[in-house]
Amino acid sequence: MAIIVDKAKCIGCESCVAVCPVGAMTMQEGKAHVDTEKCILCGACVNECPVGAISKEATAKAAVTNTAGTDVWVMAELEDGKLAGVTLELVAKAAELAAKAGEKSAAVLMAAAADKLPEELIAAGADKVYVLTGPEFAEYNTDVYTNAFCELAQAYKPSAVLFGASIDGRDLAPRIAARLHTGLCADCTALDMDKDGLASWTRPALGGNIMATILCKEHRPQMGSVRPKTFKAQPAAAGHQGEVITFAVKNQVPQRVKLVKKEALSGSGTIKIEDAEVIVAGGRGMGSAENFKKLEELAALFENSAVAGSRAAVDEKWIGHAGQVGQSGKTVTPKLYFACGISGALQHLSGMKDADVIIAINKDPNAPIFQVASYGLVGDVNVLLPKLIEQIKAFKQA
Ligand SMILES: Cc1cc2nc3c(=O)[nH]c(=O)nc-3n(C[C@H](O)[C@H](O)[C@H](O)COP(=O)(O)OP(=O)(O)OC[C@H]3O[C@@H](n4cnc5c(N)ncnc54)[C@H](O)[C@@H]3O)c2cc1C
Ligand code: SF4
Ligand code: SF4
Repeated sequence: MAIIVDKAKCIGCESCVAVCPVGAMTMQEGKAHVDTEKCILCGACVNECPVGAISKEATAKAAVTNTAGTDVWVMAELEDGKLAGVTLELVAKAAELAAKAGEKSAAVLMAAAADKLPEELIAAGADKVYVLTGPEFAEYNTDVYTNAFCELAQAYKPSAVLFGASIDGRDLAPRIAARLHTGLCADCTALDMDKDGLASWTRPALGGNIMATILCKEHRPQMGSVRPKTFKAQPAAAGHQGEVITFAVKNQVPQRVKLVKKEALSGSGTIKIEDAEVIVAGGRGMGSAENFKKLEELAALFENSAVAGSRAAVDEKWIGHAGQVGQSGKTVTPKLYFACGISGALQHLSGMKDADVIIAINKDPNAPIFQVASYGLVGDVNVLLPKLIEQIKAFKQA
């Protein structure tokens, strides 16, 4: 879609300029003019124009649409210069999907310098690695990455692209999908591909009460995002051969957003919950912010541990959103998961049910959390939690 101004009809009243929420509409030589880079297609100007000079019109489809496309791509992500866990997980999945369709898997790497990263992606399962390097790729930037990815996709026409449903992936994937005029299935929990290369993307729908499987039959690339820990990475295979293809972006774009500085989070959130081996999670049943702090005492008894929460706990501001487990939070697969005062709603379970061992404390013996718990303690968390901490301390000292 695009906003079109019929200059012959425009009477220069400037009403559209006044209503545009993003400053995309300006006057040029007495007539309205749309900056298509800024326009968010909200339609406010269309409704405001007194003489019907503005309309929304469908634009010609981009070249990478319809049925053209081969290979299953993964957009690689870096964390402190190393491949992110979700990238390794998705590269393994892409290899599995591509094999079903008789296609190749590929990873797209954007970095200041490639170093050994292409080899690591190939060892993780990629048949090809597209490498884009330069100082502009040193840190994730929406404009730069979107522009570069779209140029690459226009040149090599992938069949499907997988993104990590990380902070950067969630920013990048929808923007690319919009540019390439294709669909995007966010936060998939299962993926498959038929022999003709048609991917099926499964994700929770209707508040998590059903699982919907979505097909993108008419547009390419097919696109989806997947949360970290949804799939398993494969052990690196030193013998796996792959092709490294360097790509130079032709059209540079201005960076509208710049990273000024990075600051590490302090306090108990220093280990990300998706990386923790032991998670102590609390829900509304913890009762107060002060009680919630007791979870840290339990977490401190384990190596590589983190405190997390249900959405109710996040809504109460007892913990930040980065610590939310579940459908609209993070998926975690720790060795040990304590669920304290958490009822076990479907949307919470979808984020933690694959933990190796689940210990639930809840005063309601019928709470759904007990259906997935390996061990259940029925009672008041304010009574049982201190006892549990005491017992573990005694066990460690013995
Ligand atoms: C689209 C959508 C997405 C969602 N995404 C998420 C998500 O990502 N993560 C998530 O967690 N939720 C999510 N939810 C919300 C979810 O449906 C639940 O509302 C939420 O998980 C409830 O949190 P809770 O278990 O902490 O609270 P509650 O459901 O209120 O449960 C509190 C539990 O604590 C117990 N309890 C109370 N007092 C004590 C005590 N003193 N000692 C022991 N036990 C006690 C109670 O018996 C109860 O079982 C989502 C909902 C929707 C619609
Ligand atoms: S559609 Fe919305 S954003 Fe675009 S020019 Fe009109 S008012 Fe501005
Ligand atoms: S509202 Fe219509 S007539 Fe007025 S300046 Fe905008 S396009 Fe022209």
